[in-house]
Amino acid sequence: MKYISIVVPVYNEQDNVTVFYREVCKYMESTGYRFELIFVDDGSTDETVLVLQKLIQRDSRVRVILLARNFGHQLALSCGLEHAGGDAVITMDGDMQHPPAMLPLLIKKWEDGFEVVQTIRKDTQGVSWFKRFTSRMFYQIINAVSDINISEGGSDFRLLDRKAVDTFKNFKEKARFIRGIISAIGYRQTQIEFVAPQRFAGKSKFSFKKMMNFALDGITAYSRLPLRLALYFGGISGLLSLLLTIDVVYTKLFTADAVPGWATIAASVLLLGGLQLIGLGIIGEYIGRIFEEVKERPLYWVSDELKSNVDAGSKKV
Ligand code: UDP
Ligand code: MG
Repeated sequence: MKYISIVVPVYNEQDNVTVFYREVCKYMESTGYRFELIFVDDGSTDETVLVLQKLIQRDSRVRVILLARNFGHQLALSCGLEHAGGDAVITMDGDMQHPPAMLPLLIKKWEDGFEVVQTIRKDTQGVSWFKRFTSRMFYQIINAVSDINISEGGSDFRLLDRKAVDTFKNFKEKARFIRGIISAIGYRQTQIEFVAPQRFAGKSKFSFKKMMNFALDGITAYSRLPLRLALYFGGISGLLSLLLTIDVVYTKLFTADAVPGWATIAASVLLLGGLQLIGLGIIGEYIGRIFEEVKERPLYWVSDELKSNVDAGSKKV
């Protein structure tokens, strides 16, 4: 019989995991599928691991993988996908913002023959207009400049069929933007919309700086347009300076008013200097990423995998 893996990256979620576990079990049991619930602890510094240890003592369907340190949400997710054995794998957040009540719906779509069931966050309760605005901007920019297409509000709450998981595992890039990879792997994909509730407990781990880095990773991983833009700007300003030079030479040779010309020179030097710096910055951004990739370091490393001593089958909470 087919079985399903649920992968959950957790980082300092001590007050969420138990409730999350209960809800997931409730909805998964209603589907009748066998399942495993894999928590990937992303180097939590609070009591998360202790709480998880209690869970595996009671329930052999729970697996806990401890990463050696904090690697970030995307790598923790990748680790979970790597370790999952199910015929379908569902990834979701452990803070209840990805409602476990939707699990049966995702599975239904999978039974209908879809290999990627992607959820789309229509709205998040209680987030600032600033986060909403920047998130919107991000999706518009990435769709405009890259050749992948990601729906606005695309989240990392999705179901992947075994085929899609195996394809995903072949993507080795370090700066990962999983939504982009999923969009690129193809297969039969479908979408479900949902409204994300507020976190059950705790704070969001994504600061503005982390969001910016994530956005830059996404854009540079899927687009060379910024590099090309630098070239275009260079071309245009080169053309303008040529016109300017012609004008200067003409004024000098054929007219009486040979201008001192200080302003023109200063302005054009500043303009060109600015454009060159932008170009260099963009190139630097890509070279930095090449540098990270060619080092070929492991994406993450696991410090331990906690095992349950409960017999399979005899689980009750
Ligand atoms: N998370 C993680 N590693 C990190 C940051 C977050 O594993 O470095 C987990 C976190 O525990 C949660 C999920 O990723 O289960 C989403 O994080 P969060 O809720 O902070 O993001 P938001 O919902 O605010 O975008
Ligand atoms: Mg969250």
